[in-house]
Amino acid sequence: MIYKRSSALFAEAQKVIPGGVNSPVRAFNAVGGTPIFIEKAKGAYLHDADGNTFIDYIASWGPMILGHAHQPVIDAVVEKAKLGTSFGTPTEIETKIAELAVSMVPNIDMIRFVNSGTEACMSAVRLARGFTGKEKIIKFAGCYHGHSDSFLIQAGSGAVTFGSPNSPGVTQGTAKDTLLANYNDIEGVKTLIEANIGEIACIILEPVAGNMGCILPQDNFLQKLRTLCDEHNILLVFDEVMTGFRLAKGGVQELYNVKADIVTFGKVIGGGLPVGAFAARKEIMNHLAPLGPVYQAGTLSGNPLAMAAGLAMLTEINTNTDLFKSLEDKTEYLHNGITEALEKNNITHTINRQGSMISVHFTDVNVTDFETAVKGNNDTFKRFFHHMLDNGIYIAPSAFESWFLNDALSYEDLDKTIEAIASFKG
Ligand code: PMP
Repeated sequence: MIYKRSSALFAEAQKVIPGGVNSPVRAFNAVGGTPIFIEKAKGAYLHDADGNTFIDYIASWGPMILGHAHQPVIDAVVEKAKLGTSFGTPTEIETKIAELAVSMVPNIDMIRFVNSGTEACMSAVRLARGFTGKEKIIKFAGCYHGHSDSFLIQAGSGAVTFGSPNSPGVTQGTAKDTLLANYNDIEGVKTLIEANIGEIACIILEPVAGNMGCILPQDNFLQKLRTLCDEHNILLVFDEVMTGFRLAKGGVQELYNVKADIVTFGKVIGGGLPVGAFAARKEIMNHLAPLGPVYQAGTLSGNPLAMAAGLAMLTEINTNTDLFKSLEDKTEYLHNGITEALEKNNITHTINRQGSMISVHFTDVNVTDFETAVKGNNDTFKRFFHHMLDNGIYIAPSAFESWFLNDALSYEDLDKTIEAIASFKG
């Protein structure tokens, strides 16, 4: 593959945009090489500025579950744009998408739209604090909830110590209110709660994690968190920015039959436009301004183009009864193909999968949390990434990201992907 034009565009971009990108992972820092500048996309394919075509397994990091430039979504946006792009007033379409989302997701009565997953999670935590009158939160190592201050925290020493910031600019004061636990470690969560009795507003997690590869909750982890939350009057917040409307119509609450108190969304809910949302039962949502004292706002929140894209997307997901089965079948097919291809070449690996999320870890340990996720061989991953790219397959440029399948992928695309993997010698 030749990336001449992408290289030139990257050089120009670096002069005026830090690192040449508006979100760090796009810079290929973890894998080396020049990021590819995409010009257009359709269905399962990305087309770059040099005229190369790639089978896409990122799906814009999740939203494009039906494939790129999906016609009903494009039509909805184009039609809406003709009527004006933002009014800063209520519009009817906001209620329509809210009604639809509330009808699809269990245990929520009301939803508020924002502009990103970061905003959704930040607002959910503020709401949880406002509702409970408590200040601390528990998050899990390796779970990403956007870049707001409370979430950019890593462990100090041991699970019961206060967190310390892992980005300059996050204050110690903020960090001390974020307690860190290990994913799938219910005993660790209990210890944290006991050391902070009466102080924890919420536990937030990706109920199926996608930001340390794909990691599944083990051994009724979600149910056990629910029980602990009930016992201690703590709100359980499911960050379904990745999993919402992707793993099931009703997300992980439906899939695992566990009730969350607040749910956050992003990605699929906006059909590829900048949308996030958070939702809960009425009793909690009533605390939000203008009904209640917890402040939250947004000039472009509920933007008509974004709502049009989201409504078209959710309508399709709600009515396409085969979608989740079709995605799951494709992902299982890919899983089996990858296993066979890597085994043939004696490449040590572990594959995790849930629905249309899948990740390949170059380690033989069971990957169940952040600690085991980092055991993957990063050098192998880098070579694998570039091998795939050279073969026209675009996977995320980081070993800690899940692959997202989209329903425009054909079995021929999957076979081509498996064939590319089979020619990877490690
Ligand atoms: N939560 C999760 C689970 C995510 O995966 C992400 C983004 N990858 C976010 C929150 C933040 O969303 P955004 O990038 O839209 O701010």
